[in-house]
Amino acid sequence: MTEEEQRRAAEEERARRRREKLEKHALPCPHCGKSVLDHMTRCPYCGGALRPKGYSPMDEKKKQRIRTVCYVAGTVIAVAIALIILFL
Ligand SMILES: [Zn+2]
Repeated sequence: MTEEEQRRAAEEERARRRREKLEKHALPCPHCGKSVLDHMTRCPYCGGALRPKGYSPMDEKKKQRIRTVCYVAGTVIAVAIALIILFL
């Protein structure tokens, strides 16, 4: 095997590995069937909504809890600022 052939073989091997890596993250779009990557939230071909792997929409309970925490924190900060202004 010449040096040139070795170089080319190594390059092909790298390209193959890159392709494999990409294919692992490719899945068919449920709307148009085209291959899309699993982290996408929207199909680049048909614009359909996708659900990325490991992603789940926030449930209502969690949302409500976060809202409550934000509301309480906001109130506490507002009261603290009001007290600081009053006592200065
Ligand atoms: Zn699509």
